[in-house]
Amino acid sequence: MSAISVRVPAKVNLQLAVGPLRDDGYHDLVNVFHAVSLFDEVTAAEPLDGDPSAAPLGVRVEGDLTGEVPVSDDNLAVRAARALADRAGRSYRADLLIRKSIPVAGGMAGGSADAAAALVACNELWGLGLPVEDLMEIAADIGSDVPFALLGGTAVGTGRGERLAPLETAGVFHWVFALADGGLSTPRVYGECDRLREEAGVAAPTPAVSEALLAALREGDAKSLGQALSNDLQPAALALRPSLAGTLALGREHGALGAIVSGSGPTCAFLAESAERAHELAALIKDVDGCRAVVTAHGPVPGATVAG
Ligand code: ATP
Repeated sequence: MSAISVRVPAKVNLQLAVGPLRDDGYHDLVNVFHAVSLFDEVTAAEPLDGDPSAAPLGVRVEGDLTGEVPVSDDNLAVRAARALADRAGRSYRADLLIRKSIPVAGGMAGGSADAAAALVACNELWGLGLPVEDLMEIAADIGSDVPFALLGGTAVGTGRGERLAPLETAGVFHWVFALADGGLSTPRVYGECDRLREEAGVAAPTPAVSEALLAALREGDAKSLGQALSNDLQPAALALRPSLAGTLALGREHGALGAIVSGSGPTCAFLAESAERAHELAALIKDVDGCRAVVTAHGPVPGATVAG
């Protein structure tokens, strides 16, 4: 096979409970991930023979607003492919092409998704046949959100988010995402969260999964799910990007069942009753200040999958 394409979903956090800062610089988290139908596609191809001095792993990025995405060894897809080759114990070559639809630095784990897709694509291209358990281990070394992008569906992550347990859900949930102008740096948002807590003199509680959220997911009850959504990073994201408060308020005013900043932001996520309501809501909020575009999506969807 000379090229393999893998489609990989974005995630939204249904609950993001952030505990105290640990000695290793990470926070203890309870992170309920939900994969939604907003996809990047990563193609791994055998390089055309020609330039023997070319890097063994090349990368190109296509799509909207991809200027911030490195086309070097820092690209998370390249790091993933290199980690896979190291695990297999020899050097392999591939040209990676990333077609991005997941917003960059948008709190939807697009870089992690590309890393997961590169693992699946290169495992296939290079004929390594590593089982998903091995890919999950490599994924966890690359970043906390990468294992979930392999798994997809809905799952709870504990530790720094990388220890995953799939969750039972019923039905389909319909979402609207308001993509913001510009991104937010994840470390900066965590730093602001710590700073706000220190300023207020509040100790971070030990994170625990919300029973109301689990019940809503099991029952496929969108109304209860909307009420149970929570994100401890939201105050920090709003402090760094005050316009997001207006975006969330407008969505609620127009009947969203829940409105939340996705992960570290600045993407805002709105839960709707049906696909039709999601489209109506998208049209009503698309012109709010600071919003670059709106998209609708549904979840849960599977993780990184070889395309057709
Ligand atoms: P998360 O939700 O996991 O905190 P995010 O969605 O906010 O992440 P990403 O789009 O994953 O943010 O990217 C964050 C940064 O990672 C980017 O600004 C970019 O510099 C770097 N990066 C490296 N590789 C990639 C990639 N393949 N796609 C996007 N960003 C990448």
